[in-house]
Parts: sequence; C-alpha cells; structure tokens
Amino acid sequence: MPTSVTDLLDARINELQAAFCALSDRVWDTTETNYLEYQSVAAHKALLEQQGFRVETGLAGLPTAVMGEAGDGGPVIAILGEFDALPGLSQQAGVAMPRPESNGGNGHGCGHNLLGAGSLLAAPAVKDTLAALGIKGRIRYYGCPAEEGGSSKGFMVRAGVFDDVDIAISWHPAAFTGVNNPISLACNELNFHFSGRAAHAAASPHLGRSSLDAVELMNVGVNYLREHMPSTARIHYAVTDTGGHSPNVVQAKATVRYLIRSRTLPDLLALVERVKNVARGAALMTETTLRHEVLSGDANLVGNTPLEQLMHRHI
Ligand SMILES: [Zn+2]
Repeated sequence: MPTSVTDLLDARINELQAAFCALSDRVWDTTETNYLEYQSVAAHKALLEQQGFRVETGLAGLPTAVMGEAGDGGPVIAILGEFDALPGLSQQAGVAMPRPESNGGNGHGCGHNLLGAGSLLAAPAVKDTLAALGIKGRIRYYGCPAEEGGSSKGFMVRAGVFDDVDIAISWHPAAFTGVNNPISLACNELNFHFSGRAAHAAASPHLGRSSLDAVELMNVGVNYLREHMPSTARIHYAVTDTGGHSPNVVQAKATVRYLIRSRTLPDLLALVERVKNVARGAALMTETTLRHEVLSGDANLVGNTPLEQLMHRHI
C-alpha cells in the first residue's frame, strides 16, 4: 500500500493516465490556433466534469477559456493548461523529425497537445490525494486559450480570475525535464505602418516618398540603439509588408513588426518609447507618415523561489 504523499499521487496518476493520454491524442488531431480552440476546450471541459470539478466557462469573456474547481477551504492552487495549435507546425504523429501532415498547416509540433492534458491530469490527482489525506485546499484547473501569441492570461488577470489564487503552476514541453527559473521577459509586439507616395522610380523618383526606405532607416536606427539599451533587453523585427514586388515603383506603404522585451514592465515601456522615437525619426527623414499598432503585451513572469525549490526536489 502506498504511504507517502508522492506515492499516493503517483498511484492516482497511474490510475488516471489513460484518459488523459487519449485527451492529448485528441487535441493533437484537433489543430485549432489562437482563440479558436472550441473542440479542444470542449474536450477538456468534459473531462473536468467527469472528474467532479465545478466548471465555469467563458472566463474573462473568452469563449475558449475554462476553469474547474474542486475541494474547499485552504489555499487555492491553480494549475494552468493550454491547447492551442501553432501555425506551420503540422506534424505526423510518432515521428521524431519534421514531417508535416499538411504542408504549412497548423499543428502541435512543439507538444502543445500535452500542455492542457498534462496539467489537467495533475488537477484530479492532487484533488483526490488531498481528499484521501483529509488536507484542505482548493484545486483549480485553468484552461487558457492562445498560449502562442494571444496573451490570453493577460486578459484573464485583468478580469480578476486569478485574484484569490495562492500559487499558479504551469509548464511547457522542452528538451529536458526540470524546473525553470521564470526568466520570461516583459514583451510588447507592435506594427509600425509607414505611408508615403507612389511614383515611378525612374521617370519621377523626386515625386515618390518611400515607406520601404522608412522601414529600412528605422531598422538601422534600432540597430544603433542596441548599444545603448540594457544588455538584458531584446529587440527583434520582421518586415511584414515591403510595399510590393516591383523595384521600379516607389513603395507607398510598408510595415515592420517589432517584438521588444525587457526584464521588467517599467523598463519595457521606456524602451518601447525609444523605439517609437526611432520610428518617428525615420518618418521625418523620408517624409512619410507613421501609425503604430499594439498587437500584444505581456508583463514579465513573477517567480516563487521556495515553490520552485520544492518542485525541483520532487522532480
Ligand atoms: Zn508554446
């Protein structure tokens, strides 16, 4: 007979695991991205109900967010899971090399099918172990949409769905098994749209105002800025609209997307302002106009060192 808490947990996990492996396989076959995880969230909800959790859906106004709670009294322990697929990560099952099911299709190639099912397996295992030992505590499973690029947890935090949570545990598949220091940086993703004036680049170049020039000058400016920013900050960009394919036309529109990261939120906001100034400078130099658009934003993760050390000992 199992005696210690971890023995009890292990035994319960072994009893439960088949249903959760099946859930993971089902999500693998259901490649829903970024806030469109309708079938995946329904499968998680059904299993939560089957395991005796009190279920709430549509958290923070997000149709594919779900929460299941069990137990009463004591601390509130949140276990976070996700189930979104990623664009371009289509992958055949059981093959340990890139081999898409459909070229360019959505998929769970980095193991996102495991995120929700693994977390969801932990929730009833802990719930049943606490009940068996007569320990008070509320266990919650939070099914969070859009792990990749959608920042759903930011909306959930803002709506207060984690306000009474004592600890929150999450995980992500990786190349090793271990406990990570949460070194996730605060980040902000923005589009910089430049607008100029089209003209024939040989016949009347003096009439053109190039948005592509503005994008290039902005990138050069930001690359100079790198020397004078904190070494822990990160800036990446991708030109998402070059303004066209014809070199003989002055590009009237162009867009560059920036991802800016810093250790803390105040540092991030200051750095974003500096990048915006570089963009303004590029617009001034090229006589184009500039509009920026925020795509997403996340604060840095706040760690819990005693809990990490405890998890590390057990893992
Ligand atoms: Zn991920």
